[in-house]
Amino acid sequence: KSVKTTAYLNSIIDDFKLSLDNDDIQIKKQFVIDKDIEIDKFYFTTAVLNILENAIKYGKGNTEILIEAKIVNTNFKVMISDNGIGIPKKELKFLFDKFYRVGNKEVHNVKGLGIGLYYTNQIIKAHKGEILVDSQVDKGTTFTITIPIT
Ligand code: ATP
Ligand code: MG
Repeated sequence: KSVKTTAYLNSIIDDFKLSLDNDDIQIKKQFVIDKDIEIDKFYFTTAVLNILENAIKYGKGNTEILIEAKIVNTNFKVMISDNGIGIPKKELKFLFDKFYRVGNKEVHNVKGLGIGLYYTNQIIKAHKGEILVDSQVDKGTTFTITIPIT
């Protein structure tokens, strides 16, 4: 099922914004999408929402989120960047493990099971896609989802 990609991404983001009760969260978009593609709406929505939820949970106030989406060759790429607390380099390789949570003190009073990214990674892998993370402590984090276009 091919979807109107830009409209679809906008609708996920709009729904997410409506679910927030905090007005000082800025979400910017940069889409370069020149055709509609086939993506599984359910897994894609789940993946994006898990990452957006984390961007808010692990923010430092004045949260700014940038969502970039583009088509590169035969892949659909979505990058979600935040200006939150960041993740130490040595933790990055564990991030998609089941129940893994970074143990620093900023995160201590933030509730979670450590399952969001595990689940996100599983569903993306099941659809032959890939998710990568890059982060700098105190600066922010970027997740990149790459999904092959069939
Ligand atoms: P759950 O999603 O199950 O409610 P969670 O948010 O703790 O709980 P994950 O979404 O899997 O679990 O994230 C794992 C850990 O990665 C988090 O506990 C947090 O330490 C770290 N993390 C995830 N996203 C970010 C982010 N955007 N900025 C900083 N740290 C993050
Ligand atoms: Mg989470």
